[in-house]
Amino acid sequence: MILIMTFAFFAGLVYHTVNLAIHAAEWVAVPSNTHLPAHDRLEYAGKILDRNGVVLAQSVECKRYYNTDEDVRKACVHIVGDNTVNIATAVQTVYRSKLTNFRFTGSFLFGLGLPECLKKIDDVTITGNDFTLTIDSRLQKVALQAMGNYKGAMFFYNYKTGEILCMVSTPAYDPQNVPEDIETNEAYAGAYLNRALSASYPPGSTFKLVTANAALESIPDITKSTYICPGVETVGESTVSCYQHFPHGLLDMKEALAKSCNIYFGKLALALGRDTMTSYAEKMGFNQHFEFDGIRTADSEYDVSQANDNQLAWSGVGQYTVLETPVNMAMVSGAIANGGTPVKPYFLDSINGFSQNTPTLCSQMLSKPSADSLREMMEYTANSYLALDHQFRICAKTGTAEISDDGSVAHAWLTGFLVDEKCPLAFSVVLERVESGSTEAILAANHVLEAIAQYYA
Ligand SMILES: [Zn+2]
Repeated sequence: MILIMTFAFFAGLVYHTVNLAIHAAEWVAVPSNTHLPAHDRLEYAGKILDRNGVVLAQSVECKRYYNTDEDVRKACVHIVGDNTVNIATAVQTVYRSKLTNFRFTGSFLFGLGLPECLKKIDDVTITGNDFTLTIDSRLQKVALQAMGNYKGAMFFYNYKTGEILCMVSTPAYDPQNVPEDIETNEAYAGAYLNRALSASYPPGSTFKLVTANAALESIPDITKSTYICPGVETVGESTVSCYQHFPHGLLDMKEALAKSCNIYFGKLALALGRDTMTSYAEKMGFNQHFEFDGIRTADSEYDVSQANDNQLAWSGVGQYTVLETPVNMAMVSGAIANGGTPVKPYFLDSINGFSQNTPTLCSQMLSKPSADSLREMMEYTANSYLALDHQFRICAKTGTAEISDDGSVAHAWLTGFLVDEKCPLAFSVVLERVESGSTEAILAANHVLEAIAQYYA
């Protein structure tokens, strides 16, 4: 009997020890455990590295340090996070538990020389899990600087593999020295939001890609029909006008996209009708969200159920109530580049060297023939009308989503992709409240394209 009880005692001891080893990290990291405030747990979190092994965050002697370059810290704050959990979509928020997961090392057997913050956890020496991301901190820094004082987002991803190389949101801030007035200073309004994933904007003329696709799929020989743009025309209950009422003259679809004729695409939307427009918008990601790396993006929105004919026409050029996230816009370009079906974007490459993602196809957004037609039109647009960096074969479309009645202030959009074996990147750029239209978005994109050419071409 004594023998049995002794055995049971030791068996129980082993069970509890193993159980502790397996579950300790979960117990410590659950949000309801108030003994360890958020920043404490980061004291023993693993490293966060960029695609080239550059350290973006690490814990040394029980303190969390971010990259040594202030601009890199700011540029990556929405991906890495800070010591709080204010940035809901950041790695240090979403993966806090995994980052701080215990990895036992031999030294806990001796308990010698342990840093103070580790001693409090039952004499167990622990180290967190190391995360490697797909982003390139060099591109992050260039993108942040290119955005200047504008609020907005830049998003560049590999449309063949899904790897996000660059995702910057502004306003940004330094996670190592969080500004004391971050909650009150207007300049930091919305600073905790990763606008690339969590903000939706009126897409302006970039939405013409959606309308063009709906027409390519629904109206036979639409590319051959022509229209003479008078600059302003009554469509439905009111007028639709082109930029500064400038008459574009004779246009086919390719020229209408390149010159960004509102009336051409407004009339197309009206001809296609509410149901067809909604159906093709939803195929391209509207009225839904995306999920990747444990993160849910904001919805892009297209709702013309209450629109009159004139409003339906304006919806076809990305005005009315249409809203789109930068990540969705980049995925539309990525789909066009990839023959109609986008690859799901991601930024989590590996944990402790173990790969976390493989290329995954999303739902098809458009047919291969339509994708090929749009690619040709976007390349013509980029070559003929956009002062984009020409080290690459590039396809693109701008957008200027007017947000003031007189049209003087607008969100500037640019989306597109590179036709390049080494750099198969799709992108979107949004700069808020710009006074010079899409030019600023092109200038900002050019800085990043130059850096991409330097590092990857
Ligand atoms: Zn026009």
